[in-house]
Amino acid sequence: MAVVRKRPQLNLHLPLPETTDRRPRFPPPLPLPLPLPPNSSHSTATNHQEVDRLSDLEKLQVLGNGNSGTVYKVRQKRTLQTYALKVIHGDCDTTVRRQIFREMEILRRTDSPYVVRCHGIFEKPSGDIAMVLEYMDSGTLDNLLHTIGTFSESSLANISRQVLNGLNYLHSHKIVHRDIKPSNLLVNSKMEVKIADFGVSKIMCRTLDPCDSYVGTCAYMSPERFDPDTYGANYNGYAGDIWSLGLTLVELYVGHFPFSPPGQKPDWASLMCAICFGEPPSLQESSASVEFRDFIQCCLQKESSKRWTVLQLLSHPFVTQDR
Ligand code: AMP
Repeated sequence: MAVVRKRPQLNLHLPLPETTDRRPRFPPPLPLPLPLPPNSSHSTATNHQEVDRLSDLEKLQVLGNGNSGTVYKVRQKRTLQTYALKVIHGDCDTTVRRQIFREMEILRRTDSPYVVRCHGIFEKPSGDIAMVLEYMDSGTLDNLLHTIGTFSESSLANISRQVLNGLNYLHSHKIVHRDIKPSNLLVNSKMEVKIADFGVSKIMCRTLDPCDSYVGTCAYMSPERFDPDTYGANYNGYAGDIWSLGLTLVELYVGHFPFSPPGQKPDWASLMCAICFGEPPSLQESSASVEFRDFIQCCLQKESSKRWTVLQLLSHPFVTQDR
């Protein structure tokens, strides 16, 4: 059961926001945080604004606690529609706060069936932020791995296709996710898989600042993010998402993080050595099909320029063949 930290309850009384958002999908970023009048809350319109007031929502249960706050399952009283409400408290540290604004910025703009939708964002003068998200009733792929067990090849082909479609959408809009891993991929009971958690994502304006490349969960980071000089010819950031997808798929197939034995968490130094100096993980000939093994090899090329792109992988037999 999730452990819930005692927090002051959010009880926001909000003015009605603009009902329609006629902005182009990818407008220039708004200056954030937005200035707020005292004693009021501010709602920022999103591409899929469905919730106008937080007071319309009733909390049903806690879904989880991230490093940035608490996620609740909520229901809109008027429509009985279920959502996930991510609440970030104003007293979080500045790094977390920066990540939240980054996530808000991206979620407000994205519009893809492969990316979790945002139905409202609310900010309070106290600094509390609440994001109303599409509810994914089966949780994360990480949750499923630990409750149901490892995934079959055909499920993984289906997952790969959906995540690649999500990455194709993001990459074509110049967004690098930078933290693809099982716990950032949400699933619903229709087995739809959607990319979530954009806290360390990046909207690429120019080239990637090498100093900015070292963010995300380091276990899933690509060799060029540790060592751009050796592995990152023409480093653009996008290939890093493909490496993380490859590791994610191997983990879902074998049941543990591929760079360490089951039940062990590697320390930072051994992880960096394994990623930069070791052989990339591969699948055993005896268990996995040729297509699956080849697909993983295309994702886990150590040199970023040799790694396949999203579009190339979308036409790989592993994802195109019916199973
Ligand atoms: P996060 O703070 O984003 O890491 O989320 C913490 C946990 O809340 C996740 O591990 C999920 O179990 C759950 N969660 C987050 N977003 C959603 C969502 N949109 N639908 C269902 N569960 C979610």
